[in-house]
Amino acid sequence: MDYGHPLKLGTFITPTNAAPDVPVGLARLSEELGYDLVTFQDHPYQPRFLDTWTLMTWVAAQTQRIHISANVLNLPMRPPAVMARAAASLDLLSGGRFEMALGAGGFWDAMEAMGARRLTAGESVDALSEAIDVIHGIWDAAERTPLRVDGEYYRLSGAKRGPATAHDIPIWLGAYKPRMLRLIGEKADGWLPSYGYLKPGQLSVGMATIDEAASAAGRDPREIRRLLNITGRFSRTRGGFLDGPAEQWVEELLSLALDDGVGTFILGTDDPEILRGFAEEVAPALREALASERASVGVVDGSVRSSAIRARRRSGIDYDHLPTSLTAIEPGDAGYAAVRSTYIRGGSPGLVIQARSTAEVVDALAFARQQPVPLAIRSGGHGISGRSTNDGGIVIDLSGLNSIEVLDASTRRVRIGAGARWSDVAAALAPYGWALSSGDYGGVGVGGLATAGGIGWLVREHGLTIDHLRAVDVVLADGARVRASEAENADLFWGIRGAGSNLGIVTSFEFEVDEVGDIGFGQFVFDAGDTAGFLEKWGRFVEAAPRDLTSFMLMGRARAGQPAMAQVYAVVDSDDAEVVVDRLQPLVEIAPLLDQAAQILPYAQIMNVPPSAHNGQGDPVARSGLIEHITPQFAAAAARLIASGAVYFFQIRSVGGAVADVHPDATAYANRSANFSVTAFGSDRDRVNAEWDQLYPHFSGLYVNFETDLRPERLDDAYPGPTMTRLRVLKSRYDPDNVFRDNFNVAPAALTIAR
Ligand SMILES: Cc1cc2nc3c(=O)[nH]c(=O)nc-3n(C[C@H](O)[C@H](O)[C@H](O)COP(=O)(O)OP(=O)(O)OC[C@H]3O[C@@H](n4cnc5c(N)ncnc54)[C@H](O)[C@@H]3O)c2cc1C
Repeated sequence: MDYGHPLKLGTFITPTNAAPDVPVGLARLSEELGYDLVTFQDHPYQPRFLDTWTLMTWVAAQTQRIHISANVLNLPMRPPAVMARAAASLDLLSGGRFEMALGAGGFWDAMEAMGARRLTAGESVDALSEAIDVIHGIWDAAERTPLRVDGEYYRLSGAKRGPATAHDIPIWLGAYKPRMLRLIGEKADGWLPSYGYLKPGQLSVGMATIDEAASAAGRDPREIRRLLNITGRFSRTRGGFLDGPAEQWVEELLSLALDDGVGTFILGTDDPEILRGFAEEVAPALREALASERASVGVVDGSVRSSAIRARRRSGIDYDHLPTSLTAIEPGDAGYAAVRSTYIRGGSPGLVIQARSTAEVVDALAFARQQPVPLAIRSGGHGISGRSTNDGGIVIDLSGLNSIEVLDASTRRVRIGAGARWSDVAAALAPYGWALSSGDYGGVGVGGLATAGGIGWLVREHGLTIDHLRAVDVVLADGARVRASEAENADLFWGIRGAGSNLGIVTSFEFEVDEVGDIGFGQFVFDAGDTAGFLEKWGRFVEAAPRDLTSFMLMGRARAGQPAMAQVYAVVDSDDAEVVVDRLQPLVEIAPLLDQAAQILPYAQIMNVPPSAHNGQGDPVARSGLIEHITPQFAAAAARLIASGAVYFFQIRSVGGAVADVHPDATAYANRSANFSVTAFGSDRDRVNAEWDQLYPHFSGLYVNFETDLRPERLDDAYPGPTMTRLRVLKSRYDPDNVFRDNFNVAPAALTIAR
């Protein structure tokens, strides 16, 4: 039976250590000749062989494309949990090129001499079965509970899981006996026997045994790849199996593929001429013949999702009709742990579609619209609201759209993909002597920040990030691709600048960036025992400072026995040391100074952070308020909030300056008059909300990107009166079905038909 698996061809090379370069050279030759896979036998008790793991790692480093496997790994000599981690590591290092083939071992005297415990044939099956569970358990990095296995052969009492593998590493078993074959059917991903060890007819009987066991276990037999080690010789005249001209090889292998379902042939030889002859004369003809036979009988592609993954699918998503052009990750996939959550919120989406182009965003959105589940849009995954993941829904992940291009150097016009991170933007602009004020953390994504505001290190001098926007490319809810600017779709452009997440998926942003040289950056720690007094003085200092100074202040509850401390950061948009000192001097006088550091450095340096894993857990609780001045009444209320312990993070940022130069009606970010943005994080939602209510009367609005409270009244705080009215009209025009609703949702206005 042909299972329809795409044909793969591999090589099987002796790992001799007499001339260690030889097996490595043959592996490289395998890659050059177009083989898909290179494999090595594993006999750790054999002094004439290189250690197989070490060799595979070396080969992985010396090749770019070819996949690598043992043929097969000796389980009794390698603890499976350690082997799983080694496999995941090699898979990560090689860019997803490691495949795992396992065996029960065979040379027991030699293995026992090296310390292995001798097992009977039956025990070997059970040990392999347990080992597969252990390996899968370690690879299941998305699962947060420690791994416990109470087996007969392997016991794990709370092992840490991970790392996640780079791709779904299959586990193939090299085995022959019926119980082993049934184990393959039940839980392995492939059968890897050697043709020379098989008795006549044993291959088809083995296939049937596997199929039967797979079906009994509720699996689709096509989940199991059928591999075969082969050896042969090219000669002019036809002899025995694979002993003859290339045409004979093609005929014999074709019959194994069509009649027995072999999808991978692995050629055992250390002879470069045989490797070359097979690659050049057999492989192309075999591929062609197989494709043509399959086309004539209508065999479908046998690549199927495993039943283990299908079992984890969430209801409401028609996984089988996801367009094949789209790349997606679902629960159980190797990459799921890395994409399920955001930086700050734990998530369990049913599907994460990784769009690599605007066309794919359109396709992903069209698919998502048909599924009755939540939809999240993710750019950098740093959204404090946590709305860029969900539970059981779909996430459209734009992190692949991360290009940064200079469009016109004379006007400092740049186009940036939604998935770029601000640290990458800062690094790309630095060589031109440019910068774009964005936020205070380089790991944040462009899409979420540039659709809402952007309160950054240079905000008082250079304004909000959205104030530098000149045009956007947007995919609307109905799939239309539109451009918006002051000249085209100006109403949409207005709304994108402050409420973008309600109106469409912005795929790229065109900004006019600023000339910014090196900047002064000061970090200070103050004794803020008199918290209210400190806040007032810091507020007065900020308001009195020229616009080239932007300052952020951060506090938490005082530690036992210590005064409350405040960390203050200040950026001065100047590379002149005298100016920097002049600006910072009044700051150090506002309270007892415990520590300080100031330097002049490139803007890109303060934005520089390495990419971080997104493994947020739980639901974030953050509140936001915008305030004109830090009045004594507000300062006293804020001091009480900080001392209450309800929040672990309390921050005030300066806004004002250039932000207020823009008219409140010019964009959907209307709260322009505030001089400060106040944010608090806590863990107990009710307690944080109760305490925040005490501060609320002081605020003149909020910034959606620092808020998690989804109650409808927050929308009026973010989008006051006329802004909200206008947004609702826009929403009914651009997203009448409210497709983009899983965030701070502006409801479409009821349409009024003019008479
Ligand atoms: C550590 C940290 C520091 C921060 N510092 C600052 C700061 O200094 N200044 C500041 O202003 N903000 C800051 N923020 C808040 C930040 O602006 C927002 O959380 C922003 O949404 C993050 O953007 P993202 O692309 O990483 O988010 P994501 O989590 O990917 O997206 C957040 C939300 O934005 C919307 N969205 C994302 N991409 C698009 C798109 N392409 N089109 C339409 N809608 C989209 C979606 O509704 C999504 O749920 C910070 C956040 C964190 C976690």
